[in-house]
Amino acid sequence: MLGLMQDWPLLISRVIDHAAREHGDREVISRSIEGPIHRITYREIRQRALKLAQRLSRDGIKLGDRVATLAWNSWRHLECWYGITGVGAVYHTVNPRLFEDQILYIMNHAEDRILFLDLTFVPLVEKLADRLPTVGRYVILTDAAHMPQTTLRNAVAYEEWINEADGDFRWLEFDENTAAGMCYTSGTTGHPKGVVYSHRSNILHSMMSLQPDCLNLSSRDTAMPVVPLFHANGWSFAFSGPMAGATMVMPGAKLDGPSVYELLETMQVTCTAAVPTVWLGLLAYLEQTGKPLTSLKRVVIGGSACPRAMTEKFERNYGVQVLHAWGMTEMSPLGTVCSIKKDYADLEGDALYDIKMKQGVAPFAVEMKITDDAGNELPRDGQTFGRLKVRGPAVSRSYFRGEGGQILDEDGWFDTGDVATIDPHGYMQITDRAKDVIKSGGEWISSIDLENLAVGHPDVAEAAVIGIAHPKWDERPLLVIVPKPDAQPDKEKILAFMQGRIAKWWMPDDVVFVPEIPHTATGKIQKMALRDRFKDYRFPGV
Ligand code: ADP
Repeated sequence: MLGLMQDWPLLISRVIDHAAREHGDREVISRSIEGPIHRITYREIRQRALKLAQRLSRDGIKLGDRVATLAWNSWRHLECWYGITGVGAVYHTVNPRLFEDQILYIMNHAEDRILFLDLTFVPLVEKLADRLPTVGRYVILTDAAHMPQTTLRNAVAYEEWINEADGDFRWLEFDENTAAGMCYTSGTTGHPKGVVYSHRSNILHSMMSLQPDCLNLSSRDTAMPVVPLFHANGWSFAFSGPMAGATMVMPGAKLDGPSVYELLETMQVTCTAAVPTVWLGLLAYLEQTGKPLTSLKRVVIGGSACPRAMTEKFERNYGVQVLHAWGMTEMSPLGTVCSIKKDYADLEGDALYDIKMKQGVAPFAVEMKITDDAGNELPRDGQTFGRLKVRGPAVSRSYFRGEGGQILDEDGWFDTGDVATIDPHGYMQITDRAKDVIKSGGEWISSIDLENLAVGHPDVAEAAVIGIAHPKWDERPLLVIVPKPDAQPDKEKILAFMQGRIAKWWMPDDVVFVPEIPHTATGKIQKMALRDRFKDYRFPGV
């Protein structure tokens, strides 16, 4: 017997229809690339996205075609996502922080037909265009007045181009499992691989992300995704904001502390999200100026581990709740969020921050477990480390064009490549990337724990820990530190600071100071490059 409910495919067009109908006057406020602050409503965004969809169809874009964007967060970028998916085409977010060769690789691999790009990226794309044979048109996200002279093929100013359509158009209807978006993983080894989201997975993931223990967005919120739309599907904000009817603030290209602060305050933002590096910039600015945060309630921090000092500063000094989140491009991307369950509601002070350091609890629609190398499930005791595996309706089952082969085991679990513990209340804590964990005397040492501890020292700007070969223990930790400007930490001071806060056998065997640590395109420490730099290093006396 079948249920007798309506067949209502979960299509992305329904999200913007809903926002325009139920929250039509709510605004999307952007720092435009041209400079001024720009305001538009959901109703207008829908109308312009319809024009965009109509114009794309006229250019021959059809179901399944890939259409790329190389753009900061703005109302135009948002319109692109809705316009592209509205004709059943696939938005492909290109991360401008990738190396040029990687950009060429992913755009050719995806066979992008049109590229929407911000003014910022015109010089970069002009250099690459000869090697992008599939791109038939470049649409520059600006108006006629700001349109640059360019050699790009069939280049047009976005505003003029969409105004060639009148918006008298209906969203296409198709199966909810149709591809909607693509994002390549940054690929620390080998080529980047294409993750392909569907309409259904994006809708389910966004509904999941709106739950009170996740982003908890409502129509009373003003949400500012500082995390770019090109980073891991923009952490759902492009859909969850309009779904909830939240006011959105799109910060454009300026992601430094003072610029982020200016928008947080002038727009009275209540919820924001980004990687830790962005918040380092904001907190440094707040400390220098002594300025307050008057409206912000929640900050979602993920992409890499949120240092304890960061959580404590936000919560203790500014009264802003930190939601530590973990996820990955392959998970749409949210996997867990660290909100406090009833079981921990009575904790205070350090005991509470111990919990807040964890990456958190899986919401409905994410299943997770930890296993040993043979695939046996390990206990949820908060102590045992294992490979973290996940499954759910917004988790990848394969990469684009089958790259990387079979990625699920026979029960449908995806190995995240992370190593984690899960405690009896379901709080997951990442202890390392499987390839970064330090194997010492048959036991594992978490490089992330050591890094988090080291950055708590007032003289330390950034810390990374890598395993160095050791004749007796197999590997031992080397702590690499970037000192704060004007600070002159020494090895003894740092080790004394760490003493007593970790097991004795976890203590780094040596500390070295460097002016900078290499990062990936998404701001993660490049452990491979660091290991390479220290490949000839030997511990003193070994
Ligand atoms: P990238 O950010 O490099 O484009 P992903 O977002 O897919 O790629 O990266 C996912 C990985 O980032 C996770 O598997 C995990 O190792 C790391 N990560 C994400 N969030 C956290 C977090 N809160 N704490 C620790 N590691 C994290």
